Amino acid sequence: MLEKTGTLYLVGTPIGNLEDMTYRAVRILEEVDIIAAEDTRNTRKLLSHFSIHTPLTSYHEHNKDEKGIYLLEQLRLGKDIAVVSDAGLPGIADPGSKLAADAIAENLSVVPIPGANAALTALIASGLDTRTFVFCGFLPKTSKKRQERLLDLQNYQETLLFYEAPHRLLKVLTEMREILGGDRRVVLARELTKKFEEYQRGSLLEITNQLEESHLRGEYVIVLEGRREKVSDQIPELSPLEYYQKLLVQGKQKKEAMRDTAKQYHISRREVYQLCLQQKEEN
Ligand code: SAM
Repeated sequence: MLEKTGTLYLVGTPIGNLEDMTYRAVRILEEVDIIAAEDTRNTRKLLSHFSIHTPLTSYHEHNKDEKGIYLLEQLRLGKDIAVVSDAGLPGIADPGSKLAADAIAENLSVVPIPGANAALTALIASGLDTRTFVFCGFLPKTSKKRQERLLDLQNYQETLLFYEAPHRLLKVLTEMREILGGDRRVVLARELTKKFEEYQRGSLLEITNQLEESHLRGEYVIVLEGRREKVSDQIPELSPLEYYQKLLVQGKQKKEAMRDTAKQYHISRREVYQLCLQQKEEN
């Protein structure tokens, strides 16, 4: 007879306010055999608040490979496991998605237990367009990579959602203003669901002028308006070839410049390459 395998529960936990814990999350955390937590000290506080005594083990960015193997083995042996992150939904800018993907690949049962999430909570209170949006998570830490990513996002018409640490906030918003334009509307949603929850709304220009780095504390979600006009409505000032050449002059590597040109003009890299060849032959 086949042994029954366990279930992997992905359990949402509050993003600040413990009243946002769901009845179902409490029950599942009580019933499972193991809770795999991003930070066991943090989760212990949550569990003690709800008088939950389930064994805890750590599962985070730095041990996810070895620990993942152990947890999958436990699932195969029939143990039920709950994954929780420090806050919100596991797998959203937090560990959990790799384990879920591995469990699914092994035909193990994966069940989400919905709960709070900072990005969506900020979005619904932002006053910006909620019909279509893109969750961008944290931007890269280095300026160069961050600016490349912002260039990638510049033509998106969807509302953009970012997580950001307070000490990088002003820098990132300034780069957004420079790359995406100062007139885009932005909402900074701070300390959601907590005592000092607040929203700052304005254009990127207004907000970057108002913020003072030394006053930035707490947790923030950036909700940014998407591009207002369609890219195809604009008359490109440069041809794709001219744009590519401009990028080379600016110091981009050929490969990078080809990729960016293709993206900018919605053509394939091969087409950019062909344009370069054509020009070479003509000269
Ligand atoms: N898994 C979480 C979720 O579902 O929202 C996100 C975890 S991510 C590591 C942490 C980031 O989420 C913070 O740096 C901040 O940008 C955002 N965040 C989390 N809690 C927040 C809150 N209460 N208010 C504003 N932003 C928050």
